[in-house]
Order: sequence, then C-alpha cells, then structure tokens
Amino acid sequence: MPEIEKRSIEKTVYELSSQGRSTNLMPECDVPEAKLPVDLLHEDLHLPELSELDVVRHFIRLSQRNFCVDSGFYPLGSCTMKYNPKINEACARLAGFSQSHPLQPIDTVQGNLALMFELQEWLKEIGGFAAVSLQPTAGAQGELTALLMMRAYFRDRGETGRTQILIPDSAHGTNPASTTMAGFEALEIPSDEHGNLDLAALKAACDASVAGLMITNPNTLGLFERNIESIVRCVHNCGGLVYGDGANMNALVGAVRPGDLGIDVMHYNLHKTFGTPHGGGGPGCGPLGVSEKLASYLPGPMVRRAKNAEKSEPAEKIKPVYTLFTPEKSIGRMNSHFGSFGVFVRAYAYILQHGAEGLKQSALHAVLNANYLRERLRGIYPLSHDRTCMHEFVLQGKIEGSSVRAVDISKRLLDYGFHPPTTYFPLIVPEALMIEPTETESKQTLDAFADALKAIAQEAVDHPEILHTAPHTTAVGRLDEVRAARKLKLREDVVQVKKEFE
Ligand SMILES: *Cc1c(COP(=O)(O)O)cnc(C)c1O
Repeated sequence: MPEIEKRSIEKTVYELSSQGRSTNLMPECDVPEAKLPVDLLHEDLHLPELSELDVVRHFIRLSQRNFCVDSGFYPLGSCTMKYNPKINEACARLAGFSQSHPLQPIDTVQGNLALMFELQEWLKEIGGFAAVSLQPTAGAQGELTALLMMRAYFRDRGETGRTQILIPDSAHGTNPASTTMAGFEALEIPSDEHGNLDLAALKAACDASVAGLMITNPNTLGLFERNIESIVRCVHNCGGLVYGDGANMNALVGAVRPGDLGIDVMHYNLHKTFGTPHGGGGPGCGPLGVSEKLASYLPGPMVRRAKNAEKSEPAEKIKPVYTLFTPEKSIGRMNSHFGSFGVFVRAYAYILQHGAEGLKQSALHAVLNANYLRERLRGIYPLSHDRTCMHEFVLQGKIEGSSVRAVDISKRLLDYGFHPPTTYFPLIVPEALMIEPTETESKQTLDAFADALKAIAQEAVDHPEILHTAPHTTAVGRLDEVRAARKLKLREDVVQVKKEFE
C-alpha cells in the first residue's frame, strides 16, 4: 500500500478536520437568539469539522477494513454466518413496518401484529412447542428469560430446593453465565470419548437439587447427541426441566423438532438460523419456545388472533383481529416494547421465501457442506471426533513437526481472504478450530477454503515464521488481543492507542 494512502486511513476524524469546513446547510437564523435557561455545555465540544464527502470517505474506508459475510467466506463455528438475503432488507424497509411506532393503537398496526402472530405460529411448528414468545432480543437473553421462568415454575410448586443447573463441558459460555445471572448454580457435566454427554455422570448428578439441564443439540462439537432421549428422561425423572440451546438450529430445521425430543424450553436465534443479520452490533432476536408446562410463564406482550372476528359488523365496530396479551403467570417483560421488530420482519420474509421444504433443504445442505469440507480436510489436520458431523465440525490446529498453533493458522487464513473459524472453542478440544460452512456457500468456495488450509499446513512445516507473524495483508497486523480486551479504549485518539499496542 502506498505510504500516503496508509496515512490517510490511519487518521481520525479529528485529524481530518479542517477549521470552518462543514456540511451544515441550515438557513440563517431569522429569530432572536436566546440563551438556554441552564448552562448545559460545560466545556467546548471540539467537534470535528468535515465536509459530507470527507465523512463518507472516512467511514466507507473504515467499513472496508472489517471482514463481512457479503465480502468473503465466514466459517465461524457456532455463529452460522450464512448469507442474509437482501429481500429481507427490502421487506424490513417497507414503510408500514419501518415507520410504525410501538405505542400506536393496536387497531392501526394490525399488519404488524399479524406478522408477529404468524412468526410465533411458524416457530411453534418448527420447534414442536406449545407456545412462543418473541420478546428476548438475543440468544443469551432467551436463556436468562427461560431460567427466570424455570425459577418461577419451581417456586409455584414449592420446590425451592432446586438450585442447580447442569451444563455440559462443551456448552457455549452464555449457558453458565445466564445460569449465574438467574440465581442458579452451574454444575459441569463432562463429555464422553465420543463427544456426547457422559450419561453416567448425568445420572449421578440428577437429584432433587436439580432445576434443569441446558443442552445444545447438535452440540458445539457439531455432533448429534445420540442419547438425547435417555438424557431428557433422566432429567425429567428427577423432576428437572430440559433447556435446549437452539441458537444453532441450522442442522435441524424441518428435519427434527426439539419439542418432540422432550425439550421443555428452547431459544431460537433468528440471527443465526433464520437469515437475519448477525454481528456488527446489529439487533439480534432470541424467541423462546416452550412446552405446555411453561407456557403461562412466558414474557409478554404476545400476540393472539381473535377466534370469531366479527366480519359482518360495520367497519367502526370491527374489533381488532390481532390483540396483545400477557400470559397469566408471566415473569413480565424482557424489554420495553415488542422486541426486535425489524428482525421479525426479516425472519418472516426468510421463512416465507423458503417454505417448509426449502427450510428442510437448507438444513440438509448445511450438513452436506460441513461433511464435504470435513472430508476434504481429513488427514491434513486432526479431527476432534471422527464421526459424521451435523452443520459444523471441529479440527485441531496443529501440524506434526511444526511449532504453529491454531491462532497462527487462523491469522494466516486472513491473508488468503477467508475469515478464520472459531478458534480455541469448544474449550474441551486443544487447539480447536470450529468450522461451520453453512448451506449458502458453493462447492467452489468450500474447495478454495480447503485448498488454503492445505497450503497453510505446508507453510507450517516449510516457513512457520510466516504463520507466527500473520496476518500480513490486512490493514492492521497481529495485535495483543488480551491487552486489547482488558484495556479497551474507544476514545478518539486511536493513533495513540495503536501505537501503544504495537
Ligand atoms: C450464539 C450462541 C448463543 C448466544 O446467542 P447470542 O444471540 O449471541 O446471545 C448461545 N448458545 C450457542 C450454542 C450459540 O452458538
């Protein structure tokens, strides 16, 4: 990169600022200026002064320094970084959706409520549940909501001694975090040598102190829990509830319904499985599906459809067909309004576009793509478990006779134009590289990725130093990630921060 351009990229809006330059096209003030009654401004703001073009160029350049699924393959395991169809965006921008207000009278937003109602119904059908609430705005918030519901459920039954939640050692970190936040104690259950939950350890842990088990199926190794029915039975027999972490439904949609397996409550991640944008700080959505037992504890408002809408009445007398309600023993709201409404529209469009058969096909393709890639990489990197995988699989980022580690391989992939897989997770696999190709990628892309990983394996033996110092082609080289996380600085003096880390 020519030196001169590099410098302009590294400049902050303050350094680009030029006194008196502005985008401000406000007319001259034609009323007497008055002082504010209170002094709100304690010091001069030092706002940067830039033209509109300066601002556009600066932020477009910054955006191009990020990796995104619209610019390259993003096989980040457990995160389901599939392509988000642009038609979802077009639907979410329709004025009737994007310009409605959450406090509008419900008879003026019947279309919005109809969409929410149908989404609730579709998710019920997909998951095999008795009821669905769209309230939670992330997977982790869905977990917390469910655990609070479980607490209320046991309190009502007088079973206040149930203080433990069992969690497999392969679980996503949000599971123990949500458990602790909800006031339960997390107890870790080990995995067996096949990558499944250790049934004997589960049996030993199941007693009257157990409120439930949180289980991810397929688990984070990308493996289907072969003993899921025995696991559910074991927890139910001791009086506990089974929480399904349904963040990654990508292998199951249209093929297996968690409710049919006996799962009592589960969150879906619309921003993973149902094609809505994910990451970049965009809003997520983690609706909850529950069995009959827990339905009356769901957070509201939920949407219902009037059974006998009086269609023959004069227009002003027609009662709204779709109304809001809060279940009888509800734990309350999880956010101020309806949840991530714009995300509902995108997920609705995604499901409508695919249809039942299309959803099932996407799940089958997700599994096919993962197994294809896994076979292409066999023999190049050790597999964590040599079993047919579901929508993802875990490799070990190590090469015999080389000092490289998983992090080196991941960083080097950036030089080849690919986003790295999830690295060092799940925690139970040393040097884990967790790869989820998703169904939206072509065979050509999967082959190119496999070829890159193969070339990197060769480099690891021939020139390990290239890997140790990678990436070499990105705007920013290798940073001290631990320090960056611990001493996070988001102030305007980014140049100073960069210097400190280099
Ligand atoms: C992503 C994920 C979560 C958390 O979902 P967020 O929406 O990021 O809060 C929980 N469990 C699993 C298995 C996940 O992959």
